[in-house]
Amino acid sequence: MESRAYNFNAGPAALPLEVLRQAQEQFVDFEGTGMSLMEMSHRGKTYEGVHYETEKLLRELLSIPDGYKVLFLQGGASTQFAMVPMNLLSPGRKAAYVHTGAWAAKAIKEAKMFGDVTIAATTEADGFMRIPAASELAVPEGAAYVHLTSNETIGGTQWQAYPDTGSVPLVGDLSSDILCRPLNVSQFGLIYAGAQKNLGPSGVTIVIIREDLLAPPAHAVPTMLQYATHAKSDSLYNTPPTFAVYMVNLVLKWVKSKGGAEAMERINQEKAQLLYGAIDRSGGFYRGCSSLDSRSIMNVTFRMENEELEKRFVKESEEAGFVGLKGHRDVGGLRASIYNAVPADSVRALVEFMDEFKRRNG
Ligand SMILES: *Cc1c(COP(=O)(O)O)cnc(C)c1O
Repeated sequence: MESRAYNFNAGPAALPLEVLRQAQEQFVDFEGTGMSLMEMSHRGKTYEGVHYETEKLLRELLSIPDGYKVLFLQGGASTQFAMVPMNLLSPGRKAAYVHTGAWAAKAIKEAKMFGDVTIAATTEADGFMRIPAASELAVPEGAAYVHLTSNETIGGTQWQAYPDTGSVPLVGDLSSDILCRPLNVSQFGLIYAGAQKNLGPSGVTIVIIREDLLAPPAHAVPTMLQYATHAKSDSLYNTPPTFAVYMVNLVLKWVKSKGGAEAMERINQEKAQLLYGAIDRSGGFYRGCSSLDSRSIMNVTFRMENEELEKRFVKESEEAGFVGLKGHRDVGGLRASIYNAVPADSVRALVEFMDEFKRRNG
């Protein structure tokens, strides 16, 4: 058996080995058709089977209620930063954004091109190292929606519970934590997530949208950028990213076989506690970046006394078979991304490495 890296990449990220093997097995000849799935029409029965099954699995694993559409789109979560305001923000209305860091900032920047944006809350004064309390949110009356970033992949903070925004629809960027735990979809008007962190490979973006938000906007929006276009045609208006959807299908079956969202949460909590435990008992050798009450169970960010030590950590970790521990180029430091598919054994190996590195350098 070939050796597998201890993969802590932030995205694209680790996929379950079982899924990769299954894809490999079916790669050239998909279920006796004499073709790869990639070579098939998206209008054919075989691909349609995969497509609709993937939607069904998502609905089941996230308990998506009736009254919501599930879409498979392209362009990444970054395109959603624009599609959300293009579709939901009409002239004269306000959109409220919660500013929690790098990804929220990008969503805000795009929204400003399309309408009136107000900041419902910001944690900038705390270096974006915490998630605001629900009571800090100021949402203008009649706002078109409130936008939040469920997990700040770069900073390493995560909403522990989502705010109740009343009659104002809540829009969530769940790119880096969708399906890391059970989700109450009915709290949201719209959820979007690029697949490449927790759901599969890059190339497909999941959108879950409440049907009352599907009305085509009154102003001009390109056909491909209207949610209504894709909702009406079950995401088959044009050619969907068939192979990426197929990979998501396999990942969802894997999640289901492990016990679904509840099991993912339990395992993710265990993995996160292992890592935060190593940080917290290091006596300041490793320093967690985010506030205790905002710690992400997906992206564990930490720093060391100086950059030289951090560089040595990265270098030696790479020599020891660890991948992806260097923090994002914008913030520096260290980051271990421990999405659903990262095995607990990889996390245990990392904790061992951290303890040992401290012994040698502390
Ligand atoms: C990765 C990420 C994005 C960007 O995703 P793309 O698919 O590269 O556009 C947006 N938001 C969050 C929270 C992310 O982690």
